[in-house]
Amino acid sequence: MLPTCREAAQQLSDNIDRPATGLSWLKLKLHLLMCVYCRRYATQIELSAGTVRLLNRVIKPGTESIKKAVSNYQRCKASNNCTEREQKSSK
Ligand SMILES: [Zn+2]
Repeated sequence: MLPTCREAAQQLSDNIDRPATGLSWLKLKLHLLMCVYCRRYATQIELSAGTVRLLNRVIKPGTESIKKAVSNYQRCKASNNCTEREQKSSK
């Protein structure tokens, strides 16, 4: 039996820390194939997790504000010329 939307949403949140495997992974993927709402939620949660990972990587506590780091990242992305060195130099 496939998970409900509520169960799928919970699994998607749990996947950030420990990815689903085996049958639960398969059931989640099947649910996502059929459910546009959970697919959208999955996209949002992946974006949020990616942003948090990025902020953890580029921000050294006490040396730069979050606002400045995000602004640097957005400028890199907007110019479409963001190198790894530029990302690191924003530390
Ligand atoms: Zn759903």
